[in-house]
Amino acid sequence: MDNFFESAYSIAQQIKDNSITSKEVVSKYFDNIESKNSELNAFLITDKQAAIRQAEIVDQKIQAGQQVGTLAGLPVAIKDNICTDDFTTTCASKILREWKPPYNATVIQKLISQDAIILGKTNLDEFAMGSSTEHSAFGPTKNPVDPSRVPGGSSGGSACAVKTDMASVALGSDTGGSIRQPAAFCGIVGMKPTYGLVSRYGLIAFASSLDQIGPFGKTVKDCALVLNAISGHDPYDSTSLDIKSDDYLQYVDRDLKGIRIGLIEEFDEVLDVSLRENLESATNLFKQNGAEIVKVSLPYVKYALSTYYLIAPAEASSNLARFDGVRYGLRVDGDNVEEMMINTRTQGFGQEVKRRIMLGTYALSSGYYDAYYKTAQKLRTALISDFKKVYDQVDVIICPTTPTGAFEFGAKLDDPLQMYMSDIFTIPSNLAGHPAISVPFGTDSNGMPLGIQILADGLNDSKVIHVGSALETLRTEG
Ligand code: GLN
Repeated sequence: MDNFFESAYSIAQQIKDNSITSKEVVSKYFDNIESKNSELNAFLITDKQAAIRQAEIVDQKIQAGQQVGTLAGLPVAIKDNICTDDFTTTCASKILREWKPPYNATVIQKLISQDAIILGKTNLDEFAMGSSTEHSAFGPTKNPVDPSRVPGGSSGGSACAVKTDMASVALGSDTGGSIRQPAAFCGIVGMKPTYGLVSRYGLIAFASSLDQIGPFGKTVKDCALVLNAISGHDPYDSTSLDIKSDDYLQYVDRDLKGIRIGLIEEFDEVLDVSLRENLESATNLFKQNGAEIVKVSLPYVKYALSTYYLIAPAEASSNLARFDGVRYGLRVDGDNVEEMMINTRTQGFGQEVKRRIMLGTYALSSGYYDAYYKTAQKLRTALISDFKKVYDQVDVIICPTTPTGAFEFGAKLDDPLQMYMSDIFTIPSNLAGHPAISVPFGTDSNGMPLGIQILADGLNDSKVIHVGSALETLRTEG
């Protein structure tokens, strides 16, 4: 039974074959939640009884020979910034502590329609702003590989839950790296799909032009399985793409013949020795197995981090204006409406969220708009055209997911710029709206897991799955 938890895909098969019941599977995951969650704090809320009840319904359908969905009976965890009508949706913020959405996000409806079992909601940096899950109002999540270190963020709870078999797969959201960075820090796979491929309806907005929901899994195949279920056009999301659906599972386990892989010249300077060596060993594996390696240049990538930290806070300052004590969540009274709003927002938001709101409001204010926000938009466009030229030459780009492995609690908390640097390699694909995946590969000098990231052009999600899955296979063989 040791390898039981290693593949959600195979668990789903076993449930469908009736060789194990969903109820048994869900109970196993709850055993892990009961023994591990109080120490690790991955889940903010779970509902065992409801999960078991749903599992029994799926089991009955299977036993009666009825058609079931692709995720039938599979236990899934959901980042707590995705709306669920059965659970509170807090964004790990005091301002939404008690808030129970009146509806399910589209991704939740899609999971349910494939007969998945939703176990509960996972911890995050407040409103998905952060890289360590230390900014949660409900305490940090710990890294399961070394509990003195952060699990990454902002989707740290989802990454931790999958790594520790508290969930078979999970959903996160990625605005600048929040799926891929915690996946790398915890040693699992995490994918950010093309912008618009997965509906954002019911994802509480941080930076709407960058946010995207995506899967966490132990394997690339597990992520492909989930992506199949959650992707597709949604009339409730005006940025959702109306394109033909694909079966991402068919890109798993393919060879690399004819695949051209780009290495970004500009990243050479920022890589320290251990990261460079790790990237080299991945590159060598690709080369030995038939891929062609090409040096490529993205001259504007050096501005990506600064561009992101103007655009994301600008959008956040506008999106978070709705938390005013009137429409949602917390209300702290005052002598008049203005005081009530000030008191609510002062007490409801944490420090990092306030910092982003101030940054964003400043960048958007008249007089500074041209210098900051408009310049950032121009740089975003320049980066996109850089990428366009590169994808004429290569199928995918590879680079490290993060500049370091998981760091210790408190290491970057007082130095926001250092914290922001965690996303230097993940942010470019968010700015461009492109897909990217992080696959575990190698360790840092502390023995903490590292990730290799595979990037592709918009709507080439199949390519990141193809090359990601190949890397996974080569890593295990090598
Ligand atoms: N760490 C980045 C930030 O703090 C990215 C967050 C995210 O992707 N949600 O903004």
